Amino acid sequence: MLKIYKNLKPFLPAILGILILQTIQAMANLYLPTLMSDITNNGIMMLDVSYIWRTGGKMLLIAGGGVLCAILASFLGARTAIGLGRILRNKIFRHVSGFSLREFDQFGASTLITRTTNDIIQIQTTTILIFNMMVSAPITAIGGTFLAYSEDKSLTVILACALPLIGLLIGFFAARGIPLFKKVQLKIDKINLVLRENLTGIRVIRAFNRIDREEARFDEASRDLTNNYIKVNHIMAFMMPGMMLIMNLVTLSILWFGAARVDQGTSNIGNLMAFMQYAIQILMSLLMLTMMFIMIPRAQAAAERINQVLGVRHDISDPKQPAHADKMAGYVEFKNVSFRYFGAEEPAVSGITFSAKPGETTAIIGGTGSGKSTIVNLIPRFYDVAEGEVLVDGVNVRDLSQQELRSKIGLVPQKAILFSDTIADNIRYGKEDATEEEVRHAAETAQAADFITGMKEGYDTMLAEGGLNLSGGQKQRLSIARALVRRPEIYIFDDSFSALDFKTDAKLRAALKRETQDATVIIVAQRVGTVMDADRIIVLDEGKVAGIGTHKELMEHCGVYREIVSSQLSEEELA
Ligand code: ADP
Ligand code: MG
Repeated sequence: MLKIYKNLKPFLPAILGILILQTIQAMANLYLPTLMSDITNNGIMMLDVSYIWRTGGKMLLIAGGGVLCAILASFLGARTAIGLGRILRNKIFRHVSGFSLREFDQFGASTLITRTTNDIIQIQTTTILIFNMMVSAPITAIGGTFLAYSEDKSLTVILACALPLIGLLIGFFAARGIPLFKKVQLKIDKINLVLRENLTGIRVIRAFNRIDREEARFDEASRDLTNNYIKVNHIMAFMMPGMMLIMNLVTLSILWFGAARVDQGTSNIGNLMAFMQYAIQILMSLLMLTMMFIMIPRAQAAAERINQVLGVRHDISDPKQPAHADKMAGYVEFKNVSFRYFGAEEPAVSGITFSAKPGETTAIIGGTGSGKSTIVNLIPRFYDVAEGEVLVDGVNVRDLSQQELRSKIGLVPQKAILFSDTIADNIRYGKEDATEEEVRHAAETAQAADFITGMKEGYDTMLAEGGLNLSGGQKQRLSIARALVRRPEIYIFDDSFSALDFKTDAKLRAALKRETQDATVIIVAQRVGTVMDADRIIVLDEGKVAGIGTHKELMEHCGVYREIVSSQLSEEELA
């Protein structure tokens, strides 16, 4: 929590303002009962009307001033707390953007979302509460006690008896409520997870008639959260009446014993009334402080969750003095590389050695799960290798700044990801300042121009979230155009032709060839037809290289490759 509050630095003037305003407000509140006692003793009892008017007016002014200060203070408090929320949200977002894929895998998207939204709101709410009473409540409690004592010493005994009672009550609620409050956050995470899975998987859920099952799953998560909230509120429901009971008992005792004292002439009505007011003020501020103490652990839990995210030391970060790779253009080399996913028992790839040169096409082929995507993800340094090294233009990717490294690469991922924006802007994602001509050219090379111009609004067509209104092949071609417009040194196509029909696939590769003449091209594919004419084919089998060579060489020496080929091509094609 304290770590989070370090972010309040820019708000120091506002906080100072809150402190001053609340002090004034608390002072005003504490002064009022004294005046009231004066009115009763010197005005009403003496039937001095003008004294009542004068002191009454004074009271009104002071009360008004107090209210004004209170309003201003809460305004400043709310602004500061919400400003803090904004700073935290931005901080988390920026930090998470720098996560390596390993770190993403570790947290999962759902909890990252809850942490940026719900947990921050939690902290905001608590902070507002804290600002609203951080000064006024303690001042009122302490000052009130002194002033009550000065009004009537012997009645103070009643307060002294009430305090331990209140302490017990607060202790009881804190012990019961706080663990429940902490649980709530976990349950919200769970709801988020189920909801996200449901929304992204809606097609599958419908296709397999699993709506009922998913509803039940959501219902369970939701009921779980509800029950938890109900439990919390059951406990809290007793708190207010409990406090009220104590407060009323205190008032009653004061009246009972006070009346006796007034009767005896050892005290007078004015002092009694003032005392009672102080007693109420003291108890009220204690109640407020209790609320605060109950909210704080909740915010504390949220703060811990936020700090967990912010505390992740990026395992992929730029070197202090990044090297530059400007001697060569597009040279990729793997030297005995092994890599293991977080939590996996076996390395996904091991002992990978190969090089890909500018002007050449290097293809990677292998069954699903053989580690093709893994290898390709090591080039832009999405993950760090466990052993060996990945060199780009002769420099280890760890020694380059991520910015420089990635600017050399045009990656077409296995799963085409598009953004809810126009088609043109989606292509421009590869190069922000691409001209219309460049965008059009990239689309033509990617064989996307036909379907784009066939759309009513052409390049200005808005894509739905993730490109839902396109077919798989259309999405792939847009994602290829996005890489092309960048004109990088290294092109990486990760299974990017799988959703294309053979004719488009062939046309696309012919067009690519002209376009990528001087660049290094790395193509991952499952189809032999796609890789056959590559300069170098790397055959992967269960994370290891089973052979490297041209189609002809591999047909002669590599059993794994022959198997793949014979499973795909007919006898005549083989001959
Ligand atoms: P390919 O692209 O050849 O189909 P991948 O490189 O995607 O294969 O996967 C290689 C192996 O690594 C598979 O066994 C897969 O289960 C595992 N794997 C892939 N991605 C992850 C991940 N994010 N976390 C853990 N294991 C993974
Ligand atoms: Mg793959």
